[in-house]
Amino acid sequence: MLIASAGPSGLANAYDGPIIDMHVHAWPSGEDGGPDEPMNQQAIAAELAELKENNVVLAAVSGPQDFLAAWAAESPGGLLLGPIFPCIDGKNPVYFRHECFADGENFPDIEWLEAQYLSGNYAIMGELYNQYAGVPFDDPRMDPYYELAERLGIPVAFHTHSGPPLTAQQCCPAFRLSNGSPLLLENVLVKYPKLRAQIMHANPLVYPEVFDLLVQFPKVYVDISPWQMAYTRKKFHRLLKEYADAGMTGRIMFGSDGADYEKAIAAYTSADFLTDKQIDGIFCKNAERFLRKNGTCEAATKK
Ligand SMILES: [Zn+2]
Repeated sequence: MLIASAGPSGLANAYDGPIIDMHVHAWPSGEDGGPDEPMNQQAIAAELAELKENNVVLAAVSGPQDFLAAWAAESPGGLLLGPIFPCIDGKNPVYFRHECFADGENFPDIEWLEAQYLSGNYAIMGELYNQYAGVPFDDPRMDPYYELAERLGIPVAFHTHSGPPLTAQQCCPAFRLSNGSPLLLENVLVKYPKLRAQIMHANPLVYPEVFDLLVQFPKVYVDISPWQMAYTRKKFHRLLKEYADAGMTGRIMFGSDGADYEKAIAAYTSADFLTDKQIDGIFCKNAERFLRKNGTCEAATKK
C-alpha cells in the first residue's frame, strides 16, 4: 500500500506493506569483502535486522554453503536459502572468491543438495552463476539440477545480462556478455516445462525479447535489480514503463541485491504510472504467487 505523506527521509512516496525480497546474498559482510574475510556473526545479525526493519517477511538468500549456514543459525525463519553455482576453482565467482561448497567442488553434490531441500535447509536454487563461470544455461552439466528442481518444485534463479566492469579480466575469465541474454534460457524452459524460473536482472531496454519469454512461459518471473539503483530514476522508470505497457508488471518480483531499501523502494513507488495494486504485486504478491506461499503477504499486513 502506498502512503502519500512524505516519510522521514522526505521521499515523496513510501511503502508500508510487506516485502518479499527475491534477491539477497549471504556474503562475507566486511567492508572489503575480500577472500579472507572472516565470518562476522555481528554483521550477519545486522543484515537480518535490516530485513526486519524494512518489513521483509520472506527473503530468498543465496551464497556460499558456510555463509548460508551462518545466516540460518542467526535467523529463526523467513529465509529461503539456495546455493550459488557453478563456481570457479571451487570458489564463488564475482567479488568474493570464497569457497562455494565444503567439498571444494564447482557444482554441488546432487545427493547432498537433494537432502538439503528435503530437510528444509534449502528452499531455492541460485542465484545461478552460469554466465560468470562460462557454463551455458543449457550445458548438460546443469541437467541433474534442473531435473531435481523440477521434481521437487524448487524455484530456480538465473543471473542474466551482465556483470561488473572488466569481469572477464578481473574475476571470471570465461565470463561473456554474449552468454547473458535471457533468450538463452529458452532451451532449458522447453526441456523443463514445470521449472519455476526467476530471471534476475531482466531488462527489456537491452533485451526486449524477455517479454517473448514471459509470454511463452507463464511460470517465469523476473527481478529487475540492480537497475533500480544502477540506472537514473528516469531510466529506471522507462524500464518499468516497458513492463507496464507490455502488461507484465504482474511478473516482477522485488529484489534488493544489496541495495539500500529506502532508495530501492522509492525507485518503484515514485513511478506514478503504477497503480497501488501493481506496487503491492511487485513488493509482495507476485513473489507470493511464484513461491506458492499463499497468505504470506496478507498475514504480514494484518500483524
Ligand atoms: Zn546477479
